[in-house]
Amino acid sequence: MKKVLWAPWRIEYILGPKPDECVFCLPEHTQEDQERLILERGKLCFVVMNKFPYQSGHIMVTPYRHVSCLTELNSEELQEIIFYLQKCTQILKQCFHPDGINVGLNIGEAAGAGIEEHLHFHLVPRWIGDHSFMAVMNDTSVLPECLFNTYRKLKKYFNQKT
Ligand SMILES: [Zn+2]
Repeated sequence: MKKVLWAPWRIEYILGPKPDECVFCLPEHTQEDQERLILERGKLCFVVMNKFPYQSGHIMVTPYRHVSCLTELNSEELQEIIFYLQKCTQILKQCFHPDGINVGLNIGEAAGAGIEEHLHFHLVPRWIGDHSFMAVMNDTSVLPECLFNTYRKLKKYFNQKT
């Protein structure tokens, strides 16, 4: 039987901020962007890698504003977020050639939001047969070195002018 896995993303912290700060509220300066694994800053939202990815290449699109629900986003934010979800999908396809991509949003703790107070859209590249691999990897933390390699790989695509 094929198990469909729509992820309860349990851990989704980013490098850098202190535990009592919201990890998705970015400082205006960009000095820590690489450390925080920020791939691109838009006008109203940004793209960031998940430090504890559900899968290699797991990235997120997040509004700058500290809002917890989809209903709180204004139309400009919605537009830009959709734009970036499309751009990220394109880049994940080019960069990783996955068999599929999960694009999704968890609103509220019951829905599996790890950090429910600041909205973030997940994009997770998927490969046929990757479930068993993830069962092994579930509680394994990813080496920062691997993360930064993936970051550099992805960043090249984001740096390209479209
Ligand atoms: Zn926040």
